[in-house]
Amino acid sequence: MHTSLTFAAVACVVGLASAVPSLAETDHNLANTISLDSNHPDSFRNFAPELPQMRARASTINTEIGLHVSEIEPGLFFVTDLVYQSAFVVTDDGVVVLDAPPSFGANLRKAIAMTAPDAPITHLIMSHGHRDHNGGGHFFADIPGLEIVAAAEVAETLEKFHLEGVLTPTQVFDSALDLSIGGVDIQLQTANYHAEDTDVMIYLPDQKFLMAIDTITPGEAPFMNFGATTNVNAYFESFATFLEYDFEHFLSGHVSILGNRQDVVAARDYAFDVRTTVYNLMSGFNDRFMNGFEAVEFQNANLAYRVAMEGIRDDCAQKIIDRWEDKLSVVDLWADSHCETALLYAVMH
Ligand SMILES: [Zn+2]
Repeated sequence: MHTSLTFAAVACVVGLASAVPSLAETDHNLANTISLDSNHPDSFRNFAPELPQMRARASTINTEIGLHVSEIEPGLFFVTDLVYQSAFVVTDDGVVVLDAPPSFGANLRKAIAMTAPDAPITHLIMSHGHRDHNGGGHFFADIPGLEIVAAAEVAETLEKFHLEGVLTPTQVFDSALDLSIGGVDIQLQTANYHAEDTDVMIYLPDQKFLMAIDTITPGEAPFMNFGATTNVNAYFESFATFLEYDFEHFLSGHVSILGNRQDVVAARDYAFDVRTTVYNLMSGFNDRFMNGFEAVEFQNANLAYRVAMEGIRDDCAQKIIDRWEDKLSVVDLWADSHCETALLYAVMH
């Protein structure tokens, strides 16, 4: 879908402009956009539906509380509003909440009250400081003595930048913290696969439960630009780190499906396939650039550079879609962003 737009842009510059309206007469050439007009060449209708095997795993909402809540191990509950995910664990001392997304509203508190009506809420553990995963903390702000556990770097960030709804940590740690709360072991370990400051992996060994937020999207290709990572290299290295843990459940923070070990393996294989594909195509970068530069009569190197980047991105995306469209959902929606992220990284390293 991008090729025709790229050609149109180049055709204008190389003197075929009389055949097509100039940009001044039309809207600007906003390449790489999806049109909601079904007759447009870049119509949303060109994208494949979600795969049946992914739909079959989707969670359903309990309408009474507006959330999906399921007990995945004794005392350990998985929660999702079908877009965001969190969890809570009922211990002998009370309830420990693992992330409080603002999209859950007050419903998470309601779900906990229905599940464990007599248990106090003792801890809120934050996977990272981003508002979209912990901006619902304020719904727990009135609980006396609530321990809010976060990495020290997250506490520093929150001191500098107020993030609406995110509570100030009361217990911080540098790189690792082992907690034992009401008979439940919870191991926290910092990492750098997503957030600007730090991420925290949350591991419950007895429940074989690992939580690493904004990483994979079970059943689907990763979200745009590999989960919008701020550290591409660390993102790629994180799969090996995750797989060193002995886990069966993998909570990644997004979509309605709770992940498992196979989902992490599939996401790893997908990501490395993208990277290898880009590296293989990189050998043709100079030729692509020179072709474009010649076409624009050596006047606009930026345009030629973009043509070279888009050519590799689109060739990569096509190969990735061909290989993965039957295995993961929405590959055709995000493959170009993954290829572009891997390409930018390859250019710079
Ligand atoms: Zn995030």
